[in-house]
Order: sequence, then C-alpha cells, then structure tokens
Amino acid sequence: MLVALAVTAAVVLPTGLLVRMALVSGDPAPRRPAAAARPLPACRYSRERTALTSYQDWQRTLLDTTYRLPRSYEPPDLVPITRAGVGTRDMRIRAFVVPDLQALVEAAGAAGSPVDVTWGYRSFRTQTWVFEYWTEQKGEAALRTAARPGHSEHQLGTSLDFKSEGALNVDETWKDDPAGRWMREHAWEYGFVLSYPEGKEAVTCYAHEPWHYRYVGRREARRILDSGLTVRQYLWRQNAELSR
Ligand SMILES: [Zn+2]
Repeated sequence: MLVALAVTAAVVLPTGLLVRMALVSGDPAPRRPAAAARPLPACRYSRERTALTSYQDWQRTLLDTTYRLPRSYEPPDLVPITRAGVGTRDMRIRAFVVPDLQALVEAAGAAGSPVDVTWGYRSFRTQTWVFEYWTEQKGEAALRTAARPGHSEHQLGTSLDFKSEGALNVDETWKDDPAGRWMREHAWEYGFVLSYPEGKEAVTCYAHEPWHYRYVGRREARRILDSGLTVRQYLWRQNAELSR
C-alpha cells in the first residue's frame, strides 16, 4: 500500500505544481457533505471542504488528505498551552483541552516518563509555511508526513505533537522511548488518541507519527479505542451515520 500511495502521488503530482497551486488558490471548492453510508474512500489528494466545520464539532470534524477546513477556521478559545504546564507561551490550544492535558502531563511525569509538547494549534497560514518547508526538504514525499494547509488536525486547536521532556525534537523512534510508550498506552485515558498509528498508513493516508495526538475527550477516546478503528475510520463512519 505504501508503494501504491507513492505511485498515486507521483501520478497526481508529477512536478509538485499542483501542490503550489493548492497553496495559493484559496477556497474554490463548493461545500459538499461527507458521503453517507459509503465505504472509507482510498487515500487521494483533493480539496473538499469537510462537512462539520462548526467550532462545536471539534470531536467529529474529519480531516485527511481529501477533506479540509476553511482558511478562516480559527477557534475563538485558544489559550497558551503553558496553562497545562508544558510547551512555551507561543503555543496555543483550545481552553477545554487544558485540564486533561495537565492531568496527562502530571501522570506521565509521575510514571517516570515526562512529556513535553512541540506543537499545538497551527493556523492555515502557519500550515502553509510548514508544508512548503517540508516540500522543499523532501519533495513529493512530504505529502505523506505533512498535511497541506486546511487538512491539518493542528488547525482544530485540539491536536498536539508530543516529545520527551528535555528532548530537542522527536522522530519515528519515539515509539520505543519510555515517554512514547507511555503515551501509546495511557494517552487515551486522558482523552487523546493517536491519529496516525503504525501499520495503519493505508487507512490514515499518512506515515506513522508516534508523537501526534488528537484530543477527543475521555469518553470518545475510550470509544475509539474499543472500536479498534483509526480516528479517520471512526469519524468517517460516525459522519455517515449522522447524515443518514
Ligand atoms: Zn502533528
């Protein structure tokens, strides 16, 4: 599947030109609801506006390589992430995430696997910069590790990239670090789910990112865990049921 995905990207984006166009072309696609009762679509790269874009829909907003947020989506309740005892003051997160994030951070520290945060909310504009940076670094391969503007869960203000406390950065090997392992086993207890798990690349459409967690609340995190599905699969199914 990894090979198939790479081939698709090569066909759709032979020169990277389409990516450049997508970065500068605003929001041309008309609003279209997520399809009901259809099987999970294969991974592809397009720019369809996701169906649920109210700030109250944060748990249910489906984002992937197809579905995106509008450029103007910027939650009104972003606060410094330092309120949860992590990160730096320039990082922000939606206010309601703070108590569970703080509890997670304290629990990880108490377990001897202290964690910190490297990214919280990212605006459409910042994501444009991030995607351009990775495209320059990695070419088309960036599509598998970086979301195009509008497609990033970081724009929701509820997704975070974690690292070990004191570490400069984080990479794929973090899954075997004590903090990475602790997060994989316990983050759901505090309402956080791993968006892009190992071995699920064919359905998440992104490479494994052991550091990237999306906050969905404790009850919903438990449901997603029990379902055995990835966030993308779970939300696709949930969105389909909602629109029936
Ligand atoms: Zn991330």
